Amino acid sequence: MASRRQAVHYRIVPVDPALHLFEVTLTIASPAADGQIVSLPAWIPGSYMVREFARNIIQLRAEASGRKVRLTKLDKHTWRAARCDGPLVLMYQVYAWDLSVRAAHLDQTHGFFNGTSVFLQVHGQESVRHVVDIQPPEGEAYAQWRVATSLPELKARRHRFGTYVAQNYDELIDHPVEMGDFELIRFEAHGVPHEMAVTGRVPNLDKIRLAADLTKICESQIAFFEPNTKKAPMDRYVFLTLAVGDGYGGLEHRASTALICARADLPALGQSAMTEGYRTFLGLCSHEYFHTWNVKRIKPAVFAPYDLRQENYTPLLWLFEGFTSYYDDLTLLRTGLIDAPTYLGLLAKTINGVLRGSGRLKQSVAESSFDAWTKYYRQDENAPNAIVSYYTKGSLVALLFDLTIRRDTRGRKSLDDVMRALWRRYGRQFYSEDGGRGVTEAEVEALFDEVTGLHLKPLFDLAVRGTRDLPLQDMLAAFAVDMTDKAKTGKPSLDVRTKKVGGDCQLANVYEGGAAHAAGLSAGDTLVAMDGIRVSASNLDTLLQRYRAGHIVSVHAFRRDELLTFDLVLHAESAPQFSLTLKEKPLGALRLQRGWLKGR
Ligand SMILES: [Zn+2]
Repeated sequence: MASRRQAVHYRIVPVDPALHLFEVTLTIASPAADGQIVSLPAWIPGSYMVREFARNIIQLRAEASGRKVRLTKLDKHTWRAARCDGPLVLMYQVYAWDLSVRAAHLDQTHGFFNGTSVFLQVHGQESVRHVVDIQPPEGEAYAQWRVATSLPELKARRHRFGTYVAQNYDELIDHPVEMGDFELIRFEAHGVPHEMAVTGRVPNLDKIRLAADLTKICESQIAFFEPNTKKAPMDRYVFLTLAVGDGYGGLEHRASTALICARADLPALGQSAMTEGYRTFLGLCSHEYFHTWNVKRIKPAVFAPYDLRQENYTPLLWLFEGFTSYYDDLTLLRTGLIDAPTYLGLLAKTINGVLRGSGRLKQSVAESSFDAWTKYYRQDENAPNAIVSYYTKGSLVALLFDLTIRRDTRGRKSLDDVMRALWRRYGRQFYSEDGGRGVTEAEVEALFDEVTGLHLKPLFDLAVRGTRDLPLQDMLAAFAVDMTDKAKTGKPSLDVRTKKVGGDCQLANVYEGGAAHAAGLSAGDTLVAMDGIRVSASNLDTLLQRYRAGHIVSVHAFRRDELLTFDLVLHAESAPQFSLTLKEKPLGALRLQRGWLKGR
């Protein structure tokens, strides 16, 4: 048995950036008497798919007192060391060449890792102190490299290589680490130091604007959850941003987030306009920051603790991802970073996206949450016809709950009150000594009724467990917002989503019930010609403009290199095109609208 103060010790070195290798040395002072078991997580919290990180471990070996210790592999990510005395030392390399926020990446320009990709879990000693010595690569070329992480320093100066510490394994793997010659942006939010490290070349980055805008977002969310004390749940917070040519993604952690974005989305000096790219980036920052409360501390019961060996099923991701998606853009509006028409434009886009696929009529957001591991995270060409997103529909569920509560309590209560109650009861103490235990579906539902004084089971049945379209049009009308389908243009359509493959036009998705489906075309088919005229990736829309809905066209397509011919009846464009507009009256609805959009 290991005592509380005993430590598990890791040393990690970017030993060969050109070959993308980290070398890790793990020292276990008191290995288990009957043979120490170690394993690497199969998934990383926040990204609900089994990724089998252990496949990137190379040359794992063990020794004790200078002698080799035999390792037995028990399964794809677990090993047992033979019984030995004294400190057990494990050495291995990790291949780090995954350019995402989920794993590890290393080359001559920077290094990045999540603990789930590099630190073996020492079974039976998860709750002791975990100490990590983070070393730079060898050579003058790396003299400027620094470290950015929210992992607390033990014997290291801020942003320097040295020794860092976590109080247990769960904490160790919740602080990703960036190393390199990054730009550093610093600001405070309600007294708590925040920083953003930007890796990748971004000419003329407007650091002052970025700091000012992020301050607004962070302060707004801290005040949202703790309106009286404005107390943030962490001592400091780090945004790790990797700027690339084209990319988008984020992963939340308890005191940091790892982001990937397009460099064009970051603001340049001398440009003050709110571009779509920058707005998208701020929305991403807002989303991941909101997770600091919602999913990193308020958690589904099955995540407390995580079982990192296999899938952890929860029907609640609509609450943790969907509601976070609802509040990410709403925060931009409430802080004045975007205006109400822009916000409603984003909302309309989400509504139209959800209504596009027939999968929404087959899978509820609770089911989508449960099956995230095998469906949402592993989408194929049939996804629009088979599943619904707990992100996008989940955010509309949040909207419907928020508006319903505001309307039925005459503006006295809102979803904000429910979120704060979830925070106080299940989140605030999560990492304290007594520890948190997460929240169950039944507790979530009960809390909604308790906080609002309403009976919301019918709404849960409809919106969370049901597959019928949400009654948003009527609800928005009560808030003086018009939801109207733009006049149909009669524009002819194949009811497909296409993608460019080389210069060819390939069908990415064929929407159920649409023109292409009716004619027998399939996702993966390469369109070749329409009425004898060549179709390319760039001219399909132009060709279609010569026709009207109801016209029959002859379509040639390749499937497995075989030429097939289809007679296709063109449909009128069926993709929903709702837009949302603010109305001037009635007064009662305007009062509700103000409360919603301004957060009161
Ligand atoms: Zn999220």
